[in-house]
Amino acid sequence: MGHLKLPEGKKIAVNLGTDFDAQSLWMGGFNKPSPSYMSRGEFGAMVGVPRLLELYEKYDVTTTWFTPGHTVDTFPGACEAVAEKGHEFGHHGYFHENPTLIDAGCEEELIDRAFDTFEKRLGIRPTGYRSPYWDYSDNTLDIVEKKGFKYDSSLMGRDLVPYRPQRWAIDWENGNKAGKASHVIEIPVSWYLDDFPALGCVTGYQVGQQDSKTIYERWRDIFDYGYERVENAVYTSCVHPQTIGQPHHMMWYEDLIKYMASKDGVWFATLDEIADCWVDDDEDKEKMELPDIRTTAPRPEYYPNF
Ligand SMILES: [Zn+2]
Repeated sequence: MGHLKLPEGKKIAVNLGTDFDAQSLWMGGFNKPSPSYMSRGEFGAMVGVPRLLELYEKYDVTTTWFTPGHTVDTFPGACEAVAEKGHEFGHHGYFHENPTLIDAGCEEELIDRAFDTFEKRLGIRPTGYRSPYWDYSDNTLDIVEKKGFKYDSSLMGRDLVPYRPQRWAIDWENGNKAGKASHVIEIPVSWYLDDFPALGCVTGYQVGQQDSKTIYERWRDIFDYGYERVENAVYTSCVHPQTIGQPHHMMWYEDLIKYMASKDGVWFATLDEIADCWVDDDEDKEKMELPDIRTTAPRPEYYPNF
């Protein structure tokens, strides 16, 4: 497998990813556009963003903000503040639509709509994509390639190293087969490094509200493993301004950044910068030449469709 060739003296690349979903988080998938949920998104833009920008500046952290087009249209001022601090914007759909609920045409249209917003409001075209809800339709990877993205950051086939994501032909009775790998580099995510499932409370869906110390220790342990045991590692975490922006969360998040910053060879970088460090080996090149197989065989009739 290929590897990251990190800058001289660096042991690990750290991307403190910040998914600025704001109000769209509650629209595209949760379908909860009520005043109460909208106020939670507003909190992210008005309170969470300035707190995070201040924190990142204090520790000289530059990172990637995966931001739906809807957030850019709704809170352009907050997005301009992020841009002014030199952070990268990543593409994150338009209204945080769930890609598995829509057809290819609709998925592509919403991606284009967000591109238009980035161009109109901020004069940029993001080079990276992170799918809303980190979910992928059968068409997502094709669309990501077609739109010319340099990298994707939504899948979980590895943890502390990037990779070339492959298509899978699904076969229930003979084993699945891996097919053609993408020329888009995958910088993987992990639900264990996302603040929302552990800490965000959604009535009737998830309790959240776990103990901050436990989360701090989990995120630090994963960092330590990458730092000490994985060569040319990448650590890709994800916070949401409306979740991490709460005072007690800002405290543990700052402790974590302080801990990382105290180590030698830690490179706080954007995912665009990290993607530029990727070097393929022969195995990757062969995988990219494999046949484009991905037929999804039907479920065997004897097995219930539950
Ligand atoms: Zn999101």
